[in-house]
Amino acid sequence: MPAYKLFLLPGDGIGPEIMAEAVRIIDWFGENGPASFEYESGLVGGAAYDAYGVAISEEDMLSAMTADAVIFGAVGGPKWDNVPYDARPEAGLLRLRKDMKLFANLRPAICYPALSEASSLKKELVEGLDIMIVRELTGGVYFGEPKEITDLGNGQKRAVDTQVYQTYEIERIARVAFDLARLRAGRVASAEKRNVMKTGVLWSEVVTAVHEAEYKDVQLEHILADNCAMQLVRNPRQFDVIVTDNLFGDILSDVAAMLTGSLGMLPSASLGEAGKDGKRKALYEPVHGSAPDIAGLEKANPIAMIASFTMALRYSFDMGDEADLLDSAIANVLANDLRTADLMQKGKTEVTTSQMGDAILAELDLLSS
Ligand code: NAD
Repeated sequence: MPAYKLFLLPGDGIGPEIMAEAVRIIDWFGENGPASFEYESGLVGGAAYDAYGVAISEEDMLSAMTADAVIFGAVGGPKWDNVPYDARPEAGLLRLRKDMKLFANLRPAICYPALSEASSLKKELVEGLDIMIVRELTGGVYFGEPKEITDLGNGQKRAVDTQVYQTYEIERIARVAFDLARLRAGRVASAEKRNVMKTGVLWSEVVTAVHEAEYKDVQLEHILADNCAMQLVRNPRQFDVIVTDNLFGDILSDVAAMLTGSLGMLPSASLGEAGKDGKRKALYEPVHGSAPDIAGLEKANPIAMIASFTMALRYSFDMGDEADLLDSAIANVLANDLRTADLMQKGKTEVTTSQMGDAILAELDLLSS
């Protein structure tokens, strides 16, 4: 039986509360699944700053680099608003992404049938929605040089960000998207702005070339990023996999996120290059932040965190059946009308963070009995 090593980084705010529920689920799969999970915990974000004066310690970085997967909660909060820039809570997450070379960010936007009423769009537009947004995470305008503000000395300043992409960066993210499409409905939409940006021209050329050479069985469509945003709110179910750059991915994935009703429902995976053994470094985290407004109140929805472990089962441990089981358990709990405060509607039963964990565990027992 394989034994996998997880490194848990709960972080700040609601991070530790939702991680506690994810750990119960991890333990359940360790006891009832085809693999065992060992885990250690570390500190990241404000918690690491309070303990060590940095956003993540070298020792914890080493644990992250050697784990089979990192499970990350959330970082940040007003307590750390004025810490030195390099030690700000987000710096811990950025360091992990950079050192682990996590270039592919996968954000599914799935609308559980029981939540189709909670979307800002009409129920008939989002029911059954299942999109995967693949965002390039380590290149583009967030990292390109020069990146500076120059004082022009005449009362004016000039700010520059640089959007840069090289062929290999586009090729590897395109392959992630095409591979995922093969496991799903077999369609990729590649979003860029080739009408006004040189990086968009290269992006579309390279994606086309990878498609022609390696993925003819997958259906490819090129779409301008602004049109993609519009189509996401007009008719989101037309999409299967959307692949896009760092900046457009940031925006499009937030748009897709809101289609599903609540931030508390959205998991994500960040993957690195496959090593010689075929394994990728990987970090799994909810899309939302540390929600300081509800921290400590037992109000946090743990589903995004738990569904992030579902993604770990699927993408790091090749445990698709177990991932499907956990997805079904979550869907059933929602169908049974249990809701944390963020999803609460008239006629539903409000539960706390740990009661939601209890309900998902009970459903796992039921489904596997
Ligand atoms: P947020 O995602 O923390 O919260 C936005 C709103 O959604 C809040 O009202 C919050 O209560 C609610 N919410 C979020 N997750 C929820 C959950 N699981 N259950 C129920 N309600 C939930 O975003 P914010 O308020 O803009 O940021 C708060 C802090 O989090 C800031 O310090 C920010 O920098 C940080 N942040 C961290 C990450 C990360 O760790 N990856 C991401 C975004 C923001």
